[in-house]
Amino acid sequence: MYDVKSNKAEEFIDHNEIMATLEYAKENKNNVKLIDDIIAKAKEKKGLTHREAAVLLDCDIKEKNDEIFHLAEQIKKDFYGNRIVLFAPLYLSNYCVNGCVYCPYHFKNKHIRRKKLSQDEIRQEIIALQDLGHKRIAIESGEDPVNNPIEYILESIDTIYNTKHKNGSIRRVNVNIAATTVENYKKLRAADIGTYILFQETYHKKNYEELHPTGPKHNYNYHTEAMDRALEGGINDVGLGVLYGLSLYRYELVGTVMHAEHLEARYGIGPHTISVPRIKKADDIDPDVFDNGIDDDTFNKIIAVLRLAVPYTGMIVSTRETKAVREKALHVGITQVSGGSKTSVGGYAVPETEEENSAQFDVSDLRSLDEVVRWLMDMDYIPSFCTACYRVGRVGADFMKFCKNEEIHNFCQPNALMTLKEYLTDYASDKTKLSGERIIKKELETIDNPVLKEQVIKNLKNIEQGIRDYKF
Ligand code: SAM
Repeated sequence: MYDVKSNKAEEFIDHNEIMATLEYAKENKNNVKLIDDIIAKAKEKKGLTHREAAVLLDCDIKEKNDEIFHLAEQIKKDFYGNRIVLFAPLYLSNYCVNGCVYCPYHFKNKHIRRKKLSQDEIRQEIIALQDLGHKRIAIESGEDPVNNPIEYILESIDTIYNTKHKNGSIRRVNVNIAATTVENYKKLRAADIGTYILFQETYHKKNYEELHPTGPKHNYNYHTEAMDRALEGGINDVGLGVLYGLSLYRYELVGTVMHAEHLEARYGIGPHTISVPRIKKADDIDPDVFDNGIDDDTFNKIIAVLRLAVPYTGMIVSTRETKAVREKALHVGITQVSGGSKTSVGGYAVPETEEENSAQFDVSDLRSLDEVVRWLMDMDYIPSFCTACYRVGRVGADFMKFCKNEEIHNFCQPNALMTLKEYLTDYASDKTKLSGERIIKKELETIDNPVLKEQVIKNLKNIEQGIRDYKF
């Protein structure tokens, strides 16, 4: 029985409710009156139910879809302005005891080079990441209680925060590791992590069990209830996502919105982020084996509908996608992108040769961070390296409140400009510096509050003189 507030996976992601929702969406996909009503509700920027989201996803009336795309872009602007947050993944270890059939880290893969970074190697990776200009990373690891126990993850987080090189520092460590216990989430909380990210891979239980035939990740309920345990363990920000291509996307979108509804209803904290990864070629993985691949138009529709359904959430697209796909995705709701990413273990400090492959998947956007930053600015976005919210305690329900009231701009825009200035001063190429100064000048004109504006101008000057880490 569907129960949004239940703490049981199969009740808050109820299969029958998803099937009934898909049926309802199919019946109403041409119901213009209903679609108009749902779009009107979305305009209020309070989100949509999973049933409403499913109807919009199914709708194939061109004019209505154009409206949906425009509205998604507008809602993103209203909540997040023209800022795009940048981050990079850091792979700590690819040892893994699971048997996930889509992931080259699966334990039966004897071909992939297994590697686990030592603390010294992590320091080297962080120095390399800092030298690129990154301030925010997401650590990634396979699941292996012997090789990658929680103590290893905690020690690594400590090493990351304590590695300071030139003007660099990693100010926010997001964590993407396997579902774990409340006790371990408490430890991650105490280690000052940013967002705890865990991809559901698929909400479809039967498919999930087939795609994860062996290992601890096989347990669908334990995996699906991980965010509940994370929030119970005191983690403030959690990030959702499914791996598109594994199961039918309509099912996945409804599952994602139901998961968000559940977290809101039970904890008052919706997902801080939603990622939209698509399955990619990797060492011994051929994405074409999976039947549920989605084309780029469907991908954009999913992003747009999620933006309408969960308007306050950050949405992430990684370098799994090409420059062209990322460009479109930014217009329909994405707020965070990775840049200059390496998906191999140790790949920032020591690039791998092809024979040495330890990577989790092939990257499609191979551009440097400098190129990604310039590309964003050429489209009039502000690349942001800001990590202020969580460092000044604007997290969880507090963050949601600021974001939902659209007050977040007052902090975010100045913070974005100041962290961009740090990037331009310390790491950017001359060409990128020029674009950056143009953006900063233009954006300063949009700060209405004269006191704030004066303070930002003063801070920007001080950054040129070597002072770092201003934040509102
Ligand atoms: N081991 C942890 C877990 O089980 O959640 C960490 C996750 S893994 C390092 C990060 C994510 O990469 C996975 O959750 C999965 O969605 C994604 N992934 C795995 N194989 C992939 C592939 N072939 N292409 C694209 N993404 C993939």
